[in-house]
Amino acid sequence: MSELNHPHDPDCIFCKIIARKIPAKIVYEDEEVFAFHDINPWAPVHFLLIPKMHISSMAHIGAEQAPLLGRMMALVPRLALEQGCNPYPEGGYRVVSNTGREGGQEVQHLHFHVMGGPRPWLRG
Ligand code: AMP
Ligand code: ZN
Repeated sequence: MSELNHPHDPDCIFCKIIARKIPAKIVYEDEEVFAFHDINPWAPVHFLLIPKMHISSMAHIGAEQAPLLGRMMALVPRLALEQGCNPYPEGGYRVVSNTGREGGQEVQHLHFHVMGGPRPWLRG
């Protein structure tokens, strides 16, 4: 794929990962969603689930994006187990989307952290 067919920001690190300009350990990809390992994991399983479309944060989400977000959330149970999270209820995982400065967001491309695996974790 030489041309990206979704709105992207050429300066965004996650858009560059989607475009394979920055390497990442890919977990999942379809036409509208991408998932890859967090480079600095807090937990034995820690991946990021992102829309391919550059959406800056959860603060930019409205009713129009509800179907996309629904599809993303519906992927989490499957991907979490595939990546090594243990089954609910003894296992499970955490899904987090840091939003804005006070929410602790560092990368301004909407992402859901999916973290799981045996305790203790490095953080959280
Ligand atoms: P946040 O603080 O919620 O914006 O989280 C950004 C996350 O992106 C952090 O957990 C980083 O470790 C992760 N991250 C930053 N750069 C990369 C990269 N090149 N590949 C994988 N994960 C990254
Ligand atoms: Zn982006």
